[in-house]
Amino acid sequence: MTGDSSRLNTDVPHPARRYNYWLGGKDHFAADRASGDEIEKAFPGARLAVRANRDALGRMVTYLAGEAGVRQFLDIGTGLPTADNTHEVAQRIAPDSRVVYVDNDPLVLTHARALLTSSPQGRTAYIEADLNDPEAILDHPQLREVLDLGKPVAVMLIAVAHFVHGAGAAKPLIDALLAPLAPGSHLALTHATTDLMTPEDRQAYMKLLESGRLDVWPRDQQEIARLFEGMELVEPGIVVGTRWRRADQPGDLAPADAGFWAALARKP
Ligand code: SAH
Repeated sequence: MTGDSSRLNTDVPHPARRYNYWLGGKDHFAADRASGDEIEKAFPGARLAVRANRDALGRMVTYLAGEAGVRQFLDIGTGLPTADNTHEVAQRIAPDSRVVYVDNDPLVLTHARALLTSSPQGRTAYIEADLNDPEAILDHPQLREVLDLGKPVAVMLIAVAHFVHGAGAAKPLIDALLAPLAPGSHLALTHATTDLMTPEDRQAYMKLLESGRLDVWPRDQQEIARLFEGMELVEPGIVVGTRWRRADQPGDLAPADAGFWAALARKP
């Protein structure tokens, strides 16, 4: 693990840091706060939505380590360490769980120690790499050391695939990630969408995106469904993130404000 703080650019907003700002963390800079505030002004549900997304992550890992019996996790777009990171949730259920974390923000790397607090029976590792380069992730020596690709792996793409811009751009990356994985592997995804917004809000969203002031590329439910082609969707299918295996609906967050789809599927 190498830390190179000269690569930390604090003048431009970074998703991990803005996310941390919204989650009430301490690892963000003025540019991240300004970006977060601007987005929140246009979409007041944004802060609650990232919390709801984080909760969905926890429920998905709980399902994977519990019911699905998965013991290996590849968590891409990890974010800055917070409460209930993937390995903590998984290892509470199955202490022998192995987790490889991947993020492309050098600030996450400087905090990676908090992600490397594995149970003695399990393993965790952190790799600085980019979702846009699946081969570099899969061929990384540390991944190969921690994960046995002959056994099922759950690929976690939680609030990260929407940073890959362009219609159809996410599918080849996901296909490349899943191709070498064993049957019984899973894909867990949450992804921003404008499907649930009013036409006015959608227009405002696209304006922010086109002007470069918003970096979250939304996808509609059809495109999300195509990402799962060839896989078996686990109940309840592709649903608003707040509804994924959650009986009690959060009263403070309308589906339109949650603004993200969640789905989990098994590779046959
Ligand atoms: N998965 C976490 C954090 C989501 S925030 C959660 O849901 O709570 C999105 C994270 O993805 C940030 O940490 C950001 O740095 C990372 N990220 C954005 N684009 C990426 C890319 N192309 N490759 C790898 N990580 C990326």
